[in-house]
Amino acid sequence: MTRPLHATIDLAALRHNLGIARQHADGAGIWAVLKANAYGHGLPRCAEALADSLGETGGYALIELESAIALRNAGLRQPILLLEGFYAADELPLLAEYRLTPVLHSLEQVQAFVAARLPSRLPVYLKLNTGMNRLGLNVGEFPQALRLLEASPHIGGITLMTHFSDADSGPAGPGIAVQMRRLAAQIDRLDHAGKPAWPLCLANSAALLRYPETICAAQGGWVRPGIMLYGSSPFPEQQTAAELDLRPVMTLTSELIAVRNIAAGERVGYGGTFAAEHDMRIGIVACGYGDGYPRHAPTGTPVLVDGQRTRLLGRVSMDKICVDLTGIPQAAVGTPVILWGEGLSVDEIAMAAGTVSYELLCALTARVPVVEIG
Ligand SMILES: *Cc1c(COP(=O)(O)O)cnc(C)c1O
Repeated sequence: MTRPLHATIDLAALRHNLGIARQHADGAGIWAVLKANAYGHGLPRCAEALADSLGETGGYALIELESAIALRNAGLRQPILLLEGFYAADELPLLAEYRLTPVLHSLEQVQAFVAARLPSRLPVYLKLNTGMNRLGLNVGEFPQALRLLEASPHIGGITLMTHFSDADSGPAGPGIAVQMRRLAAQIDRLDHAGKPAWPLCLANSAALLRYPETICAAQGGWVRPGIMLYGSSPFPEQQTAAELDLRPVMTLTSELIAVRNIAAGERVGYGGTFAAEHDMRIGIVACGYGDGYPRHAPTGTPVLVDGQRTRLLGRVSMDKICVDLTGIPQAAVGTPVILWGEGLSVDEIAMAAGTVSYELLCALTARVPVVEIG
C-alpha cells in the first residue's frame, strides 16, 4: 500500500477562479501569475488548463526563464511576462527567440536592453518604484529610462507597472493611496506631447478585488492576479475565499494511519506540548512538515477528519500529525483526513500557523503525489 497522502489539483476550480478574476477585471488583460511552479500547483498543468480561458487578452506571468521556455516548448503561444526581467544580458536573445516580455526594473536593465542587438521587437514593461522599495525605477530615473526605450528599435510597446505593498491591508492599514499618488505624479511629470497615455499594469489579486481604480482597462491595462486563481483570499482576515466566490484548487488529503486512546495527563508528540486533560481518543495522520505542512501550526489548528472539523494536537512531526478524535467515534484507521482545500481553506491553516497561504501552497514537497481532476 502506498502512503495515503496526496494533493488533488482541481483544474476546473482554477478556471472558475480565473473567471472571477475576469469579472473583476472589467475588460483588462489578465496575466495569470504562475511563478514558483504555479504557487506549488504544477506549472505545465495550470498553464495548459488556463490557455483557452485566457484567450486573446491573457497571458502567463513568471519569474523563471527556464519555465517560460518550457511553456513555449509545450506549444503554448500566449504572451509571457517575466516579472524580474532578465538577470544577465546573455539571456536577451532567448527573450527574443521565445517571445518573452521582460519587466525592466532598473536603469541598468534598460541600458542593457537597448544596447543588445535583437532580431525582433519586444514589448516591455517598465516598473516604477512607488513605495515597495524592492524593484523598480526611482522617480529621477524614470524619464531617462523612458527616453532610452522610446528611441530604441527593439521596443514593441511600453506598459508601465508598479506593485503595491499594502493592497491587502485592513481598513486601518495604509492601502494603496500613497503609491497611487506617487505613480500619478511620476506620469504627470512626463512630457506626453499628445501621445496616448501608456497602458498600466498595477493590480495583484488584492488590488483587483478591492481597488477598481487600479485596473485601468480603458487605457489597455492589464492586471496580475496570482493567489486568487488558486482559490485563496488575499485578505483572509477580512473576507474569506468562499465569500469571494473562489474555489480551492489544491486539496491536501490523507488518512488516519493509527488511532489510540490516551489517559488524562498523557502528552502527545515531540516535547509533549499537548497534555490530555481527560481520557481521549486521538488519531495519527500521515502528513508532516516533510510534506509541506507547517511545523509551526499549533495545537488547535483545524483539520477535517471524515468531513468533521477537529484540531491538531501537539507538535507537527516530519511525517505525521496527531489530531483530536473527540466527537468523531466513527474515525478509524483509513478514515479520510483533509489538511486543507475542499471544506477547509488553506487560509485558515496559514492564519493558525502565522503565515500566508502563498507559503503553504509553494512549500508542498516533491514527495507528495499529485492527482489532477477537472
Ligand atoms: C506574485 C506577484 C503578483 C501576484 O500577486 P498575488 O498577491 O498572488 O495576486 C503580482 N505582481 C507581481 C510583481 C508579483 O511578483
